[in-house]
Amino acid sequence: MKAIINATIVMKDYLIPDGTILIDNANIKKFGKSKDVCIPQGADIIDAEGLYVGPGLIDIHTHAQDNEWIFENPKHTSSHMFLHGVTGVLPALYNNLNKDAYINAVDNILSACDEGCFDNFLGFYMEGPYLSPNFGCERDKNVWKDAIKREEYIEIVEKVKDTAKVWCIAPEREGIEEFVRDVKEKIPNIVFAVAHSEATPQQVEKYIPWGLKIATHHTNATGTIEHYSECRGVCVDEAVNYNKEIYAEIISDRMGIHVVPYMQRLVRKIKGDDRVILISDQFVCDGPIPLGFEEATDIHFDNSGEIAGSGLTLDVACYNFMIHTGCSIVDAFRFGSLNPARVLNLAGLGYIDEGNTANLIIVDDKFNVKKTIFKGEVK
Ligand SMILES: [Zn+2]
Repeated sequence: MKAIINATIVMKDYLIPDGTILIDNANIKKFGKSKDVCIPQGADIIDAEGLYVGPGLIDIHTHAQDNEWIFENPKHTSSHMFLHGVTGVLPALYNNLNKDAYINAVDNILSACDEGCFDNFLGFYMEGPYLSPNFGCERDKNVWKDAIKREEYIEIVEKVKDTAKVWCIAPEREGIEEFVRDVKEKIPNIVFAVAHSEATPQQVEKYIPWGLKIATHHTNATGTIEHYSECRGVCVDEAVNYNKEIYAEIISDRMGIHVVPYMQRLVRKIKGDDRVILISDQFVCDGPIPLGFEEATDIHFDNSGEIAGSGLTLDVACYNFMIHTGCSIVDAFRFGSLNPARVLNLAGLGYIDEGNTANLIIVDDKFNVKKTIFKGEVK
């Protein structure tokens, strides 16, 4: 048995100051005000020193950590994420892998899981292969821009099967419907995401009944349609803002380059606190930092100056979002843990409750992670 004492417990929408959390093996046994929770004799004591204790972060979309591809070095990237409070992750691969490289990357991650080197793995975030070739970094290397062919994708689908949790599509691509049907048939619980797309709202909405629930890095690589000179049209972002079902992923870097702070506030207001998900979307790319962006050291650029994901960890993204939107730490935990767990239907994760998995982190008021507890064990 373990007891976290002197905790400011972060609940879904309130705080419990001076709290205690009892952990029995991998689960939360009891929690509440210290005076109401009796600590059994012999329990290991973890003193939170008044800091916040909330649910472990869940990063549903990141390709890399600590400047290394997850698929190339799952063991190191996994422990780096634990240090930053990420107790659940959906690794994304690299967008320009061909079929065989995709399968190898998947194998590499799955064998790390089998060997016990990637315990925070929750499943794959399949960002591709059928996105719009007009978007994304290093797009000259895109090997998936030709017509969609079943014999090319089916092997990947059969390889990942139920380990794939999210599958990204550009709804406007010709032949995407057959792809969606095949994925849904083989992986009934899959969540679709609209990504790297310049689809019309109608094209996006067509896939909501199929389980399209996520807007991949909302407002990034989502098209700019002018319907008449000087008249703003509608595109993916508008469909996402319009449809309540869709969760909006946000990359919140320090300078607000991926999403300007005003837009972060706007999206939070439009989508509401139940539909925002913070992601790190870290990528490996070492193109030069363009002139005027010298301070943007937490994002990456490709050699043509195109943004290539971030260098963020999710704890830092949570703090950035607090700064940019003025949200509370309770909200930040909702965007970094509760909402990701909800969109993926992860039982017992994303919030503190009796019987839930004891994935907990201790953070200070700037969201610096002081301790990560995973399935009841201190990492
Ligand atoms: Zn992307």
